[in-house]
Amino acid sequence: MPLRSSPSRKDDVCAFCKGMIEERTTAFPDGIPYRHHVCLSCGESYLDMEQLGEVAAIYRKIKRNRATVSRWGASIGIRIPKALAKGFKVGSEVTIVPEKDGLRILRP
Ligand SMILES: [Zn+2]
Repeated sequence: MPLRSSPSRKDDVCAFCKGMIEERTTAFPDGIPYRHHVCLSCGESYLDMEQLGEVAAIYRKIKRNRATVSRWGASIGIRIPKALAKGFKVGSEVTIVPEKDGLRILRP
């Protein structure tokens, strides 16, 4: 589902059929938005090198936020990466809320 669209430059044409294209921002199934071109003639959707670089940068950043689940006695633990730990105080209590795709950690 397009989140935003804007008219493309006049000289932008489809790389496949030379039809007119426009740039749109759409979200991947995981909710991450990305810019891409959509051909108004053949309907092809594709990314140019700049847009591909943006997507790669987003996923490189997300990859840094990955963590491993460890066993702590009868419970499990996750070490929160430094980039995501901002705003959490060591020793403070948090609330963990189950959600459809995981857990949400709420600061006090
Ligand atoms: Zn086309």
